[in-house]
Amino acid sequence: MLSYQHAYHAGNFADVHKHLCTYAAAEHLLRKKSPITFIDTHAGRGSYPLTARETEQLQEYRDGVERLWKERRQLQDQPLLGQWLEALGALQEGERLVCYPGSPWWLGSRVRDQDRLTLFELHPGEHRHLAEQSVVAPEHEGKLRRVHGDGLEGLVKALPVATPRLCVLIDPSFERKDEYLEVVETLKQAMRKARHAVVLVWYPLLPAGRHRAMLEALGGSGIRKIWRSEVCREPPTHATHGMYGSGMLVINLPWGLDQALEAAIQRWLPVLGAQSSHRSSWLVEE
Ligand code: SAM
Repeated sequence: MLSYQHAYHAGNFADVHKHLCTYAAAEHLLRKKSPITFIDTHAGRGSYPLTARETEQLQEYRDGVERLWKERRQLQDQPLLGQWLEALGALQEGERLVCYPGSPWWLGSRVRDQDRLTLFELHPGEHRHLAEQSVVAPEHEGKLRRVHGDGLEGLVKALPVATPRLCVLIDPSFERKDEYLEVVETLKQAMRKARHAVVLVWYPLLPAGRHRAMLEALGGSGIRKIWRSEVCREPPTHATHGMYGSGMLVINLPWGLDQALEAAIQRWLPVLGAQSSHRSSWLVEE
């Protein structure tokens, strides 16, 4: 059963963390001319107007993207955050923050002639919304494939890709607890078929701590060069309910990306809140 709808959470602190990492990885890969296939296994709707009924209900964007947007002039000198906010600005109405883009746009907006983008979305309603979004420049529409189907199965079937380089985002809703280990099984198969792929995986930090089983299984999976970044909005206590932090894994971390992200996240934390923190480390080194 698919009940999760990302519109309720669009632009929250976890989205900022995930999309900052995704943007930075894509940006890094796009510095070289050689073609890239981007694959987004759990695409969602692609775009989230902040006045949508669902987004208005919880207004999670207020603690996330909105705080950064309000501070954007002070943050301009931070190279990665400054660029990320400038990219975001292209979708807004002048000074007014009106819309938050989803991962398809963060991956797709800079797709070039030589690149490809495949988006998987399983939920029929979300896929219908996605079909209406422009997530690549109009002249690159032919480079984009939207698939209504299972992104984990679809990823493995799509490999190997025709381009020399591959960048994948895996961003499940983790509605089922089995999803954590399904991600690991998918990664094992995918990395056998595309050893050099740069793969980003998002996971929530919840009091139940189910992500730990995923990290442990990945640690013993034989996959190497896995970097982990975790942003906590506040330290978890016995009273914590719901998501207190956001985790990202980057497999085959591009050189220098860890330092770039660390510097950007350290500038973000005071904006996110006095109790926020970041820790990063290698889950598995080279
Ligand atoms: N990646 C999006 C972004 O950052 O803007 C958000 C994605 S949301 C966290 C997860 C999405 O995955 C939901 O839209 C859900 O319908 C979809 N989904 C759930 N299971 C799926 C599967 N097996 N394959 C593809 N999509 C799936």
